[in-house]
Amino acid sequence: MEATRYGLDHQRFLSYVIKEGCLQTSRALEICKNFDIDSIKNEKGLKCFIQTINERIGTYSMHISVINCEITGISYVVLNDMANDDISRMQKGFKPIELKYFEMIVKKIFCSKSKQLLINQCLNYSSTLPVKISITDAEVLLEKWKNLGYFVLNDDMVYLGVRCLSEFAPFFWKYCENYVKRCELCSELVVKGRSCASCKVTIHGYCLNNFSRQEKCPHCNNDWQDIEQSNEDTSSEEE
Ligand SMILES: [Zn+2]
Ligand SMILES: [Zn+2]
Repeated sequence: MEATRYGLDHQRFLSYVIKEGCLQTSRALEICKNFDIDSIKNEKGLKCFIQTINERIGTYSMHISVINCEITGISYVVLNDMANDDISRMQKGFKPIELKYFEMIVKKIFCSKSKQLLINQCLNYSSTLPVKISITDAEVLLEKWKNLGYFVLNDDMVYLGVRCLSEFAPFFWKYCENYVKRCELCSELVVKGRSCASCKVTIHGYCLNNFSRQEKCPHCNNDWQDIEQSNEDTSSEEE
């Protein structure tokens, strides 16, 4: 893949990503079609293009990642501000108590065994804050954070979205060492993932799906069997 030189198209793409914060890779590829850059036909070409941008914006503590959602497997382009690794720093337009609520949800999910929370449970936490947030307001907030890419809401569960995984990875590695794992196949941070019943190794669902011998565990080589994960592990949560 030919390395590209930073130019007008890179600049245009960067301002797009800054505006959106998080967008599906398929949409990023659509945007690049308007750019007259022949090399960006697929994710590999896009990553190369983004690499050139990253070399330029690194000095401003910014970084663009291409990352898969652990729950849906969908690929996203996410802008990260690396200047600060605090969880509640990032979002403009939210009140301090709302950010406190956000941080609470992230930590509850991250420290739970199953790495997920019931939506109802999540909404109920809003009443435990120093300044109460109503259930209706909490629902609106959850929906906003979902649309921004911070959470995935699926059936009646809340999971960490690509933006949490990408933006807070440095925070997780630094402060939550006991809870973080590296995916056996891609070596990146894995939160939810799937774990082998024999050797307990954890792998991204999408990495396992792309693995050529997915019926075998890539680590212990036994027949793949998932560890049963219960949803009712709130008793094991850390407060
Ligand atoms: Zn992986
Ligand atoms: Zn195994």
